[in-house]
Amino acid sequence: MNSRRGARLALVTGANKGIGKEIARGLARLGLVVLIGSRDVGRGRAAARELSEDGAVLDVQLDVTDRASIERVVLLIQNDYGHLDVLINNAGTNVGYQKPSEVTAEDFRAVYETNVFGVVTLTNALLPLLLRSDAGRIVNVTSVRGSIGAEAAWVGQPSMPYSTSKTALNAITVHYSRELANTPIKVNGAAPGHVATDFNGFRGTRSPAEGAAIAIRLATLDASGPSGGVFDDSGKLPW
Ligand code: NAP
Repeated sequence: MNSRRGARLALVTGANKGIGKEIARGLARLGLVVLIGSRDVGRGRAAARELSEDGAVLDVQLDVTDRASIERVVLLIQNDYGHLDVLINNAGTNVGYQKPSEVTAEDFRAVYETNVFGVVTLTNALLPLLLRSDAGRIVNVTSVRGSIGAEAAWVGQPSMPYSTSKTALNAITVHYSRELANTPIKVNGAAPGHVATDFNGFRGTRSPAEGAAIAIRLATLDASGPSGGVFDDSGKLPW
């Protein structure tokens, strides 16, 4: 086994900025080789250059709505590493706020293509490689907005396409954890809190590094850790 094949390998989607970049940084500091997915090659390269101070970080072009781009990444991991230990489905998008009575199916499609369909397509494409790991971890970056029972989900103006995309992602997390219950793979959702990123015009109250912490923790759970839950820094979120 060459050193690449022996390395503990993570893929973080949407990691050229924001929370994803800090998840990548944290995993690299823990000694994992980290592939950072970026839709744009230039932005990915710049982030990988910055993160190279923290460990082994390489950029890969990855748009989770583009099947050809997914297939190229799967092939690269298969050929160069032969397995995948950690998949962080972090890439996410939103549309501007509209009242539920004004939302269109197009708004839903735009958000779900990335936040829901992209996650399922990428996860399914990578599952055979995750199953080759002795401790595969899948972390879906969700939001408290997706938890219907959490008070914080309803503060301000929740966007219906975005909030329900994360509710779907939470349910998807449980479905995968059930199917994979008899494998070493654990599947959990990480809610980062209100983080200052491009996503919200940098209005969040937490730093991207603070937002990344729960995903890093779930990505590095030991064998006794949970699977099928959605967590923030203070514990398990309600449905
Ligand atoms: P961000 O700084 O805007 O980063 C979003 C990342 O996702 C960017 O790298 C973006 O790429 C990428 N992306 C979007 N669509 C993509 C696609 N189709 N394929 C691949 N990459 C794609 O936002 P963030 O706050 O870090 O968000 C990261 C995750 O945290 C999202 O899932 C979001 O829903 C979740 N979240 C954020 C907050 C918050 O307060 N910020 C709260 C709860 C949950 P480009 O640079 O090319 O646009």
